[in-house]
Amino acid sequence: MNPDRVLEDLRELARLTGGPDGARRVCWTDEWTKARDFLRSRLDELPVEMSVDAAGNLWALMAGEGEGFVIVGSHTDSVPAGGWLDGALGVFTAVEALRSQAEKGTPPVGLRLVDWADEEGARFGRSLFGSSCCAGTLDPDEVRDLRDRDGERLEEVVARYGVELDRAHESGSELRGARAYIEGHIEQGPVLESKGEPAATVLGTVGVERRLAVFTGETAHAGATPMPLRRDTFMATAQAALAVREIGLRHDGGVCTVGGATSEPGVITAVPGRTAMLLDQRHLDAGELAAMLSEAREAIDQAAADHGCEVELQHIWSIPPIPFDDRLVRLARQAVQDAGGKDTAIPSGPLHDAAEMARLIPTVMIFSSSSPPVSHTKEEDTPEADLRIAIQAYGQTVEGMLELAESGDLPPRE
Ligand SMILES: [Zn+2]
Repeated sequence: MNPDRVLEDLRELARLTGGPDGARRVCWTDEWTKARDFLRSRLDELPVEMSVDAAGNLWALMAGEGEGFVIVGSHTDSVPAGGWLDGALGVFTAVEALRSQAEKGTPPVGLRLVDWADEEGARFGRSLFGSSCCAGTLDPDEVRDLRDRDGERLEEVVARYGVELDRAHESGSELRGARAYIEGHIEQGPVLESKGEPAATVLGTVGVERRLAVFTGETAHAGATPMPLRRDTFMATAQAALAVREIGLRHDGGVCTVGGATSEPGVITAVPGRTAMLLDQRHLDAGELAAMLSEAREAIDQAAADHGCEVELQHIWSIPPIPFDDRLVRLARQAVQDAGGKDTAIPSGPLHDAAEMARLIPTVMIFSSSSPPVSHTKEEDTPEADLRIAIQAYGQTVEGMLELAESGDLPPRE
């Protein structure tokens, strides 16, 4: 791998589709087409066969000696006013994997790049569009009538880009012959920066449980109601929120967040009779996640009882943890160390296209650090030295995957 070429491509992409406000490669727009044209121009220099599938994903296959292929990829689309690395790092590191492979000759099995369409969901609010079509987890009826800010319907907009929504699931046939998937990405958070580490292996994407806790007590006059006679839902919520924080601290690797609470009537002279509290819990381990949720339920019930209130826990959204492949995680951990990093492996809080692939084929990701540790903003950045290490680790992991595939350990998907 030659990290210089990746950095050069990334800078050129930023020049073409970025500006003082950051990246603007929002999917299903002209800027996204421009980013893709640039990607095509790089792929045109390589011995690959390019195609766009039924969901708008761009593929480029470099044939190998044996049947099937290892997939390398990420997404070129961005949020409006986004960063230069989110998605693009993974795509152009994948291009470099093809390029360095082409210089060595025919790979033992095929190597196939994918640029997933609309990972961000920036225009219509549905993330992972292309990869979920491919994985068969997107229901067209759930997205058909989504509208953008100008009132345009998703179904009509994607049609302009050659995607017939009711046939988008046909993208799944692209996985015939797929042996494994790898994605490089920036961390988008503070963990690696805080450890002083350049890169790490990703263990999987965390499971998420979201609930709304609605406390009901009694609205009462702040002057006329003595303390022992109150049924104060804000106090119940405050007690519950502190307990939720303790649950997050107790479960190693877990995070618990009370994103906010709204009290009614919400005036300075009234004890609030109703408060709704937003709860988000995440863990890579399904058992731990379930335990965190049941402990939160107990703490919330206890807080309600202690303040003479009732509480109802409403389900908002949940997704199970999606762990990556043990063998590929081992390869990546070694590669990160060989490239100059440490043997660090962390879960991903954000979802990625890799989570969709991990449902179907052996999958792994490698993160570079993010410094400052932010993303989806033009301030997003990573020290060049860290990017180089992540790129090298990625290249070595791809090598290892091709070897595993050659030895028959990663059979092609039917
Ligand atoms: Zn991304």
